[in-house]
Amino acid sequence: MSIALDKKQKIKESLKKTKEKRKNQIPKVYQLKISYSNLNNQQKQWLERVFLEAKWLYNYTVADIENRLNSKTEKLKQVEIKTPQGIETRELTCLSSQMKQGILDRIKKNLFDLSKAKQKGIKVGKLKFKSDYRNIPLKQNGITFKVLKDKNRIKIQGLKKPVRVLGLHQLPDNCDIAKAELIKKPDGYYIYLTCYIDKQNEKQKQEKINKPIGIDFGIKHQLTLSNGIKINYRIEETKRLKKLQNKLSRQQKGSKNYQKTKQKIQRQHQKIYNRRKDIKNKILSLLRRYEYVLIQEEQIKNWHSGLFGKQIQNTGIGGQIYDLSDQKGAVISMLKKNIETLISVNRYEATTKICSRCENRKEKIKLSDRTYKCEKCGLVIDRDLNSAINILKIGLQKVEETTIKNLPTDCGDVCSANWRHEVEQVKPVERDICKAKWRLKEEQAAARVLGSNPYVRVSYTSVKQEAPNFS
Ligand SMILES: [Zn+2]
Repeated sequence: MSIALDKKQKIKESLKKTKEKRKNQIPKVYQLKISYSNLNNQQKQWLERVFLEAKWLYNYTVADIENRLNSKTEKLKQVEIKTPQGIETRELTCLSSQMKQGILDRIKKNLFDLSKAKQKGIKVGKLKFKSDYRNIPLKQNGITFKVLKDKNRIKIQGLKKPVRVLGLHQLPDNCDIAKAELIKKPDGYYIYLTCYIDKQNEKQKQEKINKPIGIDFGIKHQLTLSNGIKINYRIEETKRLKKLQNKLSRQQKGSKNYQKTKQKIQRQHQKIYNRRKDIKNKILSLLRRYEYVLIQEEQIKNWHSGLFGKQIQNTGIGGQIYDLSDQKGAVISMLKKNIETLISVNRYEATTKICSRCENRKEKIKLSDRTYKCEKCGLVIDRDLNSAINILKIGLQKVEETTIKNLPTDCGDVCSANWRHEVEQVKPVERDICKAKWRLKEEQAAARVLGSNPYVRVSYTSVKQEAPNFS
């Protein structure tokens, strides 16, 4: 009796300790791909089977929740499932009891969420049967799974040999591994690892650039930053995808080969999606370092419609793939969702026509003019860079107005924020751009963040000066 109590006390204490520790940590999920070519046959079969069994157990439980959602089900070695031939039994040989418990816990959680929604007056249905189960919880580090970092492998309960995974190098040395999930996707198997990382560490890693940035969205260069950095990215439908789609159209619907081709197409979609997502994340990661991100709203919408629609589809930054109707404003909403300090400039501001140095306004600038030449002050500058700087300047005025309005009278530190002083210094624009130290730091950051993706190209442009043209 006293031993049991003692144990309880110990668990309580360790839970308290963990809770205290978590206060200074943030959770992060790492996506690790299981290297399929390194799997042996037994492992391949096991992976296929374990997802099947998870589906059986899930459907078995959902079929009679009242009698089956309990710890007895966690111990079952076989379940009955409904097939076109009638009720049949299926052995559960791969699912461990911890995995079973995880699946049932999830059902409980779903039921709880449903009842909560119902209380709020939202119309809810019942839990549905699944035709595919793609996500198996691996609850406990050390039991359902174990990370062997130096070997680039993860041991999964039920599999004798650990599986080789890609991406373990991302894990910081001193992080707490909490839980994992085994995931099935069209392009392969993954393990999602949830870790807790020290907040301090994370902050240091993401060095901030204490300065605002303007962005021009264009066709030739997708992103031109007001510091002269240009980011190009291009993800196209692969040739293989087109070929497969052609093949599919010639095959008989529902046939075995049709299904096979369909799977291959899914895999291609997943690949393209992954590339896009990576580009998107990397661009966001770069932009988040800046104090403010300034854009011009309407610019992007134009960019989406009509002539340029097809190109947008391939730019990776929008939300849904292959759905053009959903693309309008996708970039903006993506940026809005992910960057807290995003500020958009009124779409009627003539950011392309105005000289970013002397503010002289041109009547017309053709889309084919890649360089902006100012007749008044002699500035010769890349067209997109000129716009990006204008967006930065106009946007900063807006920041200035709104922050001053929102600030309490005693604003203390806020008023001495660095960028505020830079606002005034920005005016002679070339001085800002030529600040070599800043420039170098920003270029390095851009190269570091974006450089590892082969579908992104980072280049730089700077301002040339010409004598004023008084003719
Ligand atoms: Zn000028």
